[in-house]
Amino acid sequence: MTTIPFLDLASVNRTLRSELIEATTRVIDSGWYIGGQELEKFEADFASYCEVKHCIGVANGLDALILTLRAWKELGKLKDGDEVIVPANTYIASVLAITENNLTPVFVEPDSKTFNLCPENVRASLTDKTRVLMCVHLYGQLADMPNLMTIAKEHDLLVLEDSAQSHGASIDGKRAGNWGDASGFSFYPGKNLGALGDAGAITTNDSELNNTLRAIRNYGSHEKYKSLYQGVNSRLDEIQAAMLSVKLKYLDQTVAHRREIASIYTKGIDNNFIVLPVSKDSDVINMHQHVWHLYVVRTEHREQLQAHLSKLGIQTLIHYPIPPHKQQAYSQFSTLDLPITEQIHNEVLSLPMGPTLSLEQAEEVVRACNSFKLAN
Ligand SMILES: *Cc1c(COP(=O)(O)O)cnc(C)c1O
Repeated sequence: MTTIPFLDLASVNRTLRSELIEATTRVIDSGWYIGGQELEKFEADFASYCEVKHCIGVANGLDALILTLRAWKELGKLKDGDEVIVPANTYIASVLAITENNLTPVFVEPDSKTFNLCPENVRASLTDKTRVLMCVHLYGQLADMPNLMTIAKEHDLLVLEDSAQSHGASIDGKRAGNWGDASGFSFYPGKNLGALGDAGAITTNDSELNNTLRAIRNYGSHEKYKSLYQGVNSRLDEIQAAMLSVKLKYLDQTVAHRREIASIYTKGIDNNFIVLPVSKDSDVINMHQHVWHLYVVRTEHREQLQAHLSKLGIQTLIHYPIPPHKQQAYSQFSTLDLPITEQIHNEVLSLPMGPTLSLEQAEEVVRACNSFKLAN
């Protein structure tokens, strides 16, 4: 029996039930369901949260990444076959966005401690076809953006952040979404800022990109029945925008709670078989703020640890079991030699984490981790 679920989404949304119902009712009664005031308000609020000029709502996080690369192609900044550097251990969506645009993913080994892009490995992977750095802020911690931006400037590269797991994460007070030329966000229900369905957004300080994206998400059109581009239908509808406006108000509060849970895990878990995640929050030179979308430990004995925790009623998940280059969909990359990435995928295990996980439950997870022993 599960007594501590990995993430209890019903309880997360129940805490805001009356506000969410009020917002839903407002949209139902308005008679306006797509492209209205709710979207405008959320776009303005989220842009201001990220401290950027523009936020463009789209249908989901994958589209946010796909359409940004697509817009750069429309603007003549990218062409078929250009190379996009991406951490090899990312979630599949980052890679799908690249190949969907006929661009070439260049898989780079991450830093094994932070799970994020390693600047030295990025430098070693640059070619005369490299045009974009896709910086994925995995598990809630920003990639090493100060150094990655320096590389991008030196080599005139576009920087696309994949911020799907890192709403509000920052370095030196500068948040995810405000580092690169553009940033894709997901508001999938389980993300730190989650809708009650699919939703996503792009943030950028570039007005030309903003304009192009607004057309591409809407049949390539700014003006009804006039298409500038062969666009798509990828819109963030009014009900989800209204849900997100309610939830954005509580985002910092839920991040604070996640940080408290993470600190209980980090201080409490003490077991030679379990390697704890490295947060750069104590880096006093570059103040880092980890938002702990996931608390990911590593162990050479994952199956046994997962079974042990499960027996004690604790649900864990694996983010992610198979790296992109080992997916059937990407068989052309299966012979790449990426040992750090493969080790990460063999060893990672995500502990329960979320805004309604109690501190007592977190202590119980700590005790369960500490009582783990190898079976003979
Ligand atoms: C969730 C996620 C996405 C995709 O977002 P969707 O809204 O599910 O399409 C992209 N990249 C990363 C790193 C993610 O975690």
